[in-house]
Amino acid sequence: LRSLVLVLGDQLDLQAAAFDDFDPATDAAWMAEVAEESRHVWSSKPRTAVFLAAMRHFASALQAAGRPLHYRRLDDPANAGSLAAQLRADLQRLRPARLVMTAPGDWRVLQALKDVAEESGLPLDVREDRHFFVTVREFAAHARGRKSLRMEFFYREQRQRHQVLMRDGQPEGGQWNFDADNRESFGAAGPGLVPPRLGFEPDAVTGEVIALVNARFASHPGRLQGFAWPVTREQALQALQDFVGHRLPLFGRYQDAMWPGEPWLYHSHIAAALNLKLLTPREVVAAAEAAFHAGDAPLASVEGFIRQILGWREYVRGIYWTRMPRYAELNALEAHEPLPAWYWTGATDMACLRDALTQTLDHGYAHHIQRLMVTGLYALMLGVQPQQVHAWYLAVYVDAVEWVELPNTLGMSQYADGGLMASKPYVATGKYIQRMSPYCKGCRYDPAQRVGERACPFTTLYWDFLMRHEAWLAGNPRMVLQVKNVARLTEAERDAIAERAAAIRRGEVGAA
Ligand code: FAD
Ligand code: SF4
Repeated sequence: LRSLVLVLGDQLDLQAAAFDDFDPATDAAWMAEVAEESRHVWSSKPRTAVFLAAMRHFASALQAAGRPLHYRRLDDPANAGSLAAQLRADLQRLRPARLVMTAPGDWRVLQALKDVAEESGLPLDVREDRHFFVTVREFAAHARGRKSLRMEFFYREQRQRHQVLMRDGQPEGGQWNFDADNRESFGAAGPGLVPPRLGFEPDAVTGEVIALVNARFASHPGRLQGFAWPVTREQALQALQDFVGHRLPLFGRYQDAMWPGEPWLYHSHIAAALNLKLLTPREVVAAAEAAFHAGDAPLASVEGFIRQILGWREYVRGIYWTRMPRYAELNALEAHEPLPAWYWTGATDMACLRDALTQTLDHGYAHHIQRLMVTGLYALMLGVQPQQVHAWYLAVYVDAVEWVELPNTLGMSQYADGGLMASKPYVATGKYIQRMSPYCKGCRYDPAQRVGERACPFTTLYWDFLMRHEAWLAGNPRMVLQVKNVARLTEAERDAIAERAAAIRRGEVGAA
């Protein structure tokens, strides 16, 4: 064997750089399903099932393309349990002259595989991941010499460089950003009939994976009853078309809105397909831009969507790979509370959190505002240790891969990087949730109250957060208003807020 091409669960792309010089006569691909990848965080059943189902379908695609493959199944009695151990065992048997792989998405996995290559005395050729618009080196060059990093400038550079939504050197519509036109709530009338998402009935291969995950990871969080995720490239392309044709036109307007029992709304639900590399960001951006040019979707929606992919997604990857491994340990706000146990079950009496957690466990999905302004916001203001918050987000979502999850959680949501990702901590009272959804109407708490039996825990914790970080926040020009308000509190008001916040932290408030 000349080259053994290592293919990880989030590298399911026949065109990946690792296959550039692949010769079926002398080379072979290698894939392994290992329990360690579901255990290093307590991976939910939907997340594990998406990965394994997509891997097994990709194995068939490799075989159909005539590429020899060594594939180790999770239920194989000889399974060594971790990527490193499995590779070590298989190298003894296969004796390749070298190892080839596309750059992985996880720092931890890269180190583990490098170590195995070194122990075995084999050269490991790690190739650029062409899936992305921007290489890590290009990002590092962009970041060099800048005092602060802001996504907006990075995004504008990418629009110009890749000529996306540009006209005669200017941004389409004369503006880079249409946020002001987006972000409405559904109002009292509600969302009405939302175009249903395209679900994919599990085939025999996926059915087998679902049974395996239910048996092998029975105690893990989440449920598989409604499993309908795309797990092949063909399905992922159909999911993309379905979004562009039916939901993209209203994506921007309702990007931040929430509605009870409506997990899918006008979002694309393609993050997992993208992160597993079943879709390329180039084809996703091109499809959205084409819808604008064809007059099928308004510019504000299309720009808002493209910003997520060409802007945020590339930006967080750059942050991750230029800041690891230290980034994972940051805790700028010195937060040390444990994550409430009900994050893993949904057993809380707070209506907004209960719905966000329940759909997360049912589907492995919640949209951005639910992650940032419901589950993330609560953990931030409660003061949960950011590494525990990170372990939760990495475990529960079907689209969770560390390079994208960690900067979003630790940086954007928990402010643990001290302001690298976000210019200020995202803190708000329950009134934000009241504005964006009808949850508060059906809740035992009242977002307008910060103390007392009916005080909304978000509202109490908001004031408590400002009090706890008052001196430090005073130095942030974007927090001036909030800091002024907290300065007006009397001693008695402060004591009452701190007391109620302590009761919340003791678990006397919030658990169902
Ligand atoms: P849409 O709302 O339809 O957005 C379109 C696409 O844009 C997404 O599919 C995704 O690829 C990309 N995108 C949107 N926002 C971001 C962002 N902030 N960073 C990077 N890409 C973005 N996204 C993940 O892919 N994996 C994660 O593990 C993940 N963890 C997150 C954790 C927290 C605390 C927060 C606040 C956000 C996280 N996100 C993560 C970003 C975002 O919430 C999800 O990408 C999005 O909700 C996925 O749903 P969708 O495909 O319907 O996205
Ligand atoms: Fe959530 Fe508070 Fe509103 Fe209840 S009152 S739904 S806890 S924001």
